[in-house]
Amino acid sequence: MKSVYLGLGSNIGDTQRHISLGLQALQAHPQISLVSVSRLYQTRPIGPAQSDYLNCAALIRTTLEPEALLDLCQEIEHQNGRERNERWGPRTLDLDLLIWPSASIETERLTLPHPRAQERLFVLAPLLDLPEAHTIHLAGEALTTHAERCDPNDVRLTSLIWSGEALQETL
Ligand code: ATP
Ligand code: MG
Ligand code: MG
Repeated sequence: MKSVYLGLGSNIGDTQRHISLGLQALQAHPQISLVSVSRLYQTRPIGPAQSDYLNCAALIRTTLEPEALLDLCQEIEHQNGRERNERWGPRTLDLDLLIWPSASIETERLTLPHPRAQERLFVLAPLLDLPEAHTIHLAGEALTTHAERCDPNDVRLTSLIWSGEALQETL
C-alpha cells in the first residue's frame, strides 16, 4: 500500500456535491482506503475569469499503480460531467494526483509531484491539513515555506468538513 496525496476542486454547479461524489467514489474503490480529508477552502481561480472554487485535499492509501490511479481520477471526473475546453477553465470536478511520497514520475500522461503544486495556495493550504504533510518537501523546500510565499487572500477557510460520508457544516 502506498500513501498518495490528491487534490480536488470544483467551481461549476453543485460544487459540494461534486466534491462529495469524488470522495465517495475514492472511498468505494476496493484498492483505495481514504485515510484523511482536509477542511474545505473557497479559493480564487487561476486562468480565465470564472467563479471561485471549492477545494480540498485527501490522503489515500492504495495498491494501484500511478497511471491506474490517474485513470480512476479521470473516470471520476467524467462521472461528474467534467468537460475539457480551455486550459484551466471552469470545471465540475478536477481530481489531481499531487504527491506520491518518495516517487518522482515523468511520463506523457503523468507528472509527480504535481508540477504546479508548490505555487498554488489552493493546493498547499488543504495539503497542510493532512497527516505528515509538514514533513514533505517540494523542490527542496517545506510546504509551509512555499505557502508563506503565496498571497493569503487567494484562499478562505470554509466551515465545511468531510464527515466520512458527505460534506457538512461544522457547528
Ligand atoms: P493543472 O495540471 O495545472 O492543475 P488541470 O488540472 O486543469 O491543470 P487537466 O485538464 O485536469 O489539467 O489535466 C490535463 C492533463 O494533465 C491530464 O490529461 C493528465 O494526463 C495530465 N497530468 C499530468 N500530471 C498529472 C497529475 N499529477 N495529476 C493529474 N493529471 C496530470
Ligand atoms: Mg488541476
Ligand atoms: Mg486536473
